[in-house]
Amino acid sequence: MSTFLGMPATAPRGVGNLRGDQPFPEAARTALGNAQLRRNLAHATTTIRAKSARVVGELPDWQRLRDAGSALKAYTMAHLPELLEQLEERVVAAGGVVHWAADANEANQIVTDLVRATGHDRVIKVKSMATQEIGLNEALEAAGIEPVETDLAELIVQLGHDKPSHILVPAIHRNRAEIREIFLREMPGVDPALTDEPAVLAGAARRYLRETFLRTKVAVSGANFAVAETGTLAVVESEGNGRMCLTLPETLITVMGVEKVVPAWRDLEVFLQLLPRASTGERMNPYTSMWTGVTPGDGPQNFHLVLLDNGRSAVLADEVGRQALHCIRCSACLNVCPVYERTGGHAYGSVYPGPIGAVLSPQLTGVEDNASLPYASTLCGACFDACPVKIDIPAILVHLREQHVEAGKRPTPESIAMAAAAYTMDHPRLYAAAQRAAKLSRIVGRRGRGLPPPLNGWTTGRDVPAPPKQTFRDWWAGR
Ligand code: SF4
Repeated sequence: MSTFLGMPATAPRGVGNLRGDQPFPEAARTALGNAQLRRNLAHATTTIRAKSARVVGELPDWQRLRDAGSALKAYTMAHLPELLEQLEERVVAAGGVVHWAADANEANQIVTDLVRATGHDRVIKVKSMATQEIGLNEALEAAGIEPVETDLAELIVQLGHDKPSHILVPAIHRNRAEIREIFLREMPGVDPALTDEPAVLAGAARRYLRETFLRTKVAVSGANFAVAETGTLAVVESEGNGRMCLTLPETLITVMGVEKVVPAWRDLEVFLQLLPRASTGERMNPYTSMWTGVTPGDGPQNFHLVLLDNGRSAVLADEVGRQALHCIRCSACLNVCPVYERTGGHAYGSVYPGPIGAVLSPQLTGVEDNASLPYASTLCGACFDACPVKIDIPAILVHLREQHVEAGKRPTPESIAMAAAAYTMDHPRLYAAAQRAAKLSRIVGRRGRGLPPPLNGWTTGRDVPAPPKQTFRDWWAGR
């Protein structure tokens, strides 16, 4: 086993598609100027929210399921090295090969070498956040290997030379007219009379993908879960494309973040109830594929599992922040977040958008490298309420803000004012004198007045309340 999980203090930070070109505020401002994007997002998130709420409401034990999911994840994080060693042992015993990748570059190199060793130059892909995180498509293309996304939304994003903007619905920012235009421009062999009817668009993608499935010998997938007890990998998806990728090729390479391991087979009972209801609003996931190593004469005859750290060891070392590793990528927190609903996913820069992105990406890269993301939230708490594994995202956001402030430690007008206020309140006589001397009512006492410079920024969007005529001390002294 690699040593990286044993050395959290010196673990490498995450590299790959975890940082944006711009801080969140600037990127969000650009996104807010796109009315079409806001309409698409509002429609999509409202629809998914309502669907999910309906099926969640059907389960009388939903809160107990959430508790169970949370407890299982906490147990997993507390025993991660042992569980990963057990998983490795079981996968190898079933005929698979396990590789350990400390960061994105190492993982990309491993996958590239494995594909090259097969002698093929094209891979089909199951939708996978881990491979997006490490920038695998870019790395394969640079090595002369063609990656073909087979999830419909991922295919739209790939053909559009675009970036995903939602964990579950990567092309949520596109409407069907835009998708038709992308297909006509980029899809090989597409019918020029293509309309923007959803069924027609899906049919065009199906024809293109079917042919690709049949002539491609190598597949790359992610994994939703990996069972340490049995060495079984699981992928859940809703189009059947994943099933094709996981069964038709000769070689299957799975890239999985180390946090996806679960201790036992029976634990899937909890997660396979939580995930579809919280994510797509379905009672049961349409396609759940599971495989254990290699089965002679059935499915891929070569199976490689790449276990990816890429900053996760460092996250694990933080007792508050490690909750972010509990995420099962359902995207419920995105769909309820008022900030995400208005800005969309691209504003977050990282492949992980929305509330989970705001807590996961800064930890994977180091807070200073994604410093604006912990502030991309109103702390309303809707994400915590929606999360099927009860990740306390607001608490992690506050924790990361604190880390960012501590790391910066540059005096600002606010920090100077707060330090002065703390000192004054710590010294009763000084405090009484300050109250008498302030006579603030003459300066700021009427509603609608702002503070004088350099504090005027604070009152740009709010009034300073008028101080009472009599202080508590005066009132007390009068009695
Ligand atoms: S943080 Fe919770 S709600 Fe958000 S994607 Fe992860 S599991 Fe789902």
